[in-house]
Amino acid sequence: MGGRNSARHDISIVHSGWTSAYIHYTPTGGSWTTAPGVAMTAACTGWYVTTLDLGAATGLQAVFNNGSGTWDNNNSADYLISSGTSNVVSSTHAITSGNPCSATSNSLTVFYYNASTWSNVYMHYAPTGGSWTTAPGVAMTVECGNWHKKVITLGPATGAQLTFNNGSGAWDSNGGSNYQVGTGYIKVASGTVTANAVNPCLPIGTEPTLPYAQPADSAVPKRGCATIDDPAAPASTSINAVQVIYGYNAAWGNHYDDAAAVIAKIMDRVDWAIDESSDYEQHINFSCRHTDDGTYADYAKALVAPVLITSGTSSGQVRADLAAAGYSDTNRWYVVFADFDSQSDSYLCPTTGGYNCSSVVTDSWDTGVAGHEFGHLLGAGHAWMTETGHQYNPDIMLDWGNYWLYDTRNASYYDPSETAARFYIDPYSSTTKANIAAHPVLTTPVCCDVGANNDLLTAQERTTEADAPGASPTGYSAVGGATLTVTPAGSYAGVSASYFDGRRSLQVTTAASAASGYVITRQPVAVAGTTYKQFVRLRSATTTATVALRMQWFDSSGTLLSTTTSNSITLTSNWLEWRLTGTAPTGTATVQLGVIAPAQTSFTMNVDTQQLNRCDTVCRIET
Ligand SMILES: [Zn+2]
Repeated sequence: MGGRNSARHDISIVHSGWTSAYIHYTPTGGSWTTAPGVAMTAACTGWYVTTLDLGAATGLQAVFNNGSGTWDNNNSADYLISSGTSNVVSSTHAITSGNPCSATSNSLTVFYYNASTWSNVYMHYAPTGGSWTTAPGVAMTVECGNWHKKVITLGPATGAQLTFNNGSGAWDSNGGSNYQVGTGYIKVASGTVTANAVNPCLPIGTEPTLPYAQPADSAVPKRGCATIDDPAAPASTSINAVQVIYGYNAAWGNHYDDAAAVIAKIMDRVDWAIDESSDYEQHINFSCRHTDDGTYADYAKALVAPVLITSGTSSGQVRADLAAAGYSDTNRWYVVFADFDSQSDSYLCPTTGGYNCSSVVTDSWDTGVAGHEFGHLLGAGHAWMTETGHQYNPDIMLDWGNYWLYDTRNASYYDPSETAARFYIDPYSSTTKANIAAHPVLTTPVCCDVGANNDLLTAQERTTEADAPGASPTGYSAVGGATLTVTPAGSYAGVSASYFDGRRSLQVTTAASAASGYVITRQPVAVAGTTYKQFVRLRSATTTATVALRMQWFDSSGTLLSTTTSNSITLTSNWLEWRLTGTAPTGTATVQLGVIAPAQTSFTMNVDTQQLNRCDTVCRIET
């Protein structure tokens, strides 16, 4: 006898409604099986599979049936199939090679915009190299509004041509040339094909690009699952973690299969934004439903739990439904992507999770909005600007949706370098403080990877928030006869309440006729040959005056090596940010920052939001 040849035959029952399938066959030159033949095994959706031993034969003749008298005999011609792996589609009688259920089977998801508002929409298609469906083709289902959807399996084909019709003779065949598409998600609207599309029924926003362009998606790392637990009933001993939820309702539909990956990508971007925002490595602990299989699609479904919202569409009703479904654990903080018209808002939960400790994100699913609400959830207030006429500040807590970095100016609510530091989150006279870097869902910060805000000053040196208004400020030294104080308390829009870092600033009254001002007493370590940048917000509280920024380089024995001084700066009553760039000379061990006025009439200035960046890898932008 010859060798063993194996033929594999897959049959689609998509259109027949069969719930079982048999193959009745004869190897070429051999005998027929006894009807109904050999039972096939359910494989992927709509397909049955079996592997047959043909002995010495190199092919077979076959018909298919459901075991109950319904037959597909290829319009009485039977199917003639060569050995190897083949698939047979009963609706078209097409025989092609390959296993449509194997990893190489290609899926095509088509979203079609029904501009003509047909009552019914059909898609008539042919996989590349394959046969056309029987007209009018396969029925599409309404996804939302005028959008209709169909998911088909192409087998090994890497594309298809499509046409659309209403089942009654009206066609959209792209002006007669048909729509040529690849695989994956395809959107067809008004004669235009969009490849790599996302479900047009999801409320996806525009990813922010300020203050820096975001890296390409491939550069955004998957955060991964920090713990595996029941999303609605995590163990009481579980670590503190974020549970991400897809909220849907009956009226707007359940798009979980498409939404999960979109949501996971947004939350991975939020995690990445936290990590990029400072000089420290820090991440979100996510709770997942199961251990993912390594694919992003499975990770997304492990990360994002679907929850049906029934009591209404407001964010309050979303929270009530979540609590009723068990999502109220004190070791969980919830981020809910609502797939209906709700409100984007958040409770501030800096220490304990549970009921109401959730962000709701609706309308614009993107890193800007989700990250803004997540910042609130961790305890951050807005990046306040209570005075008018300021330059814009590209901070995610200032203008949701447009910006993506946390605390782009001065660690006024996010400072992983000092997790014990706290910052006023609202203008004077609020006394609420936070530092979201200390939040229990975030990992312990690890220094130093030179993120966008790689600041070398302490929280007090940056913000002057440790001392009461009117008190003597710690961390600063007067130069040339100046006097220093913490800016006295003012009204909501007053100076001590003005700039968004919180409501405290340094006040310096210079001496007349002397080089007078202040320095930051502590001298941060500096490395010879490395470039540094000093930032400071300044305003004159009295009269127009001139000052200069100053960086003084010292060696390890405390001897001044040289001084880098800025051009003359004219101060007005408005807060503006100034900066000075300098490279540490040979022998440098430390640097001392200051602002010095040349000889002129005595005046009073306010100083705030100071930073010292090292610029060897990345240096904070200037605005
Ligand atoms: Zn807000």
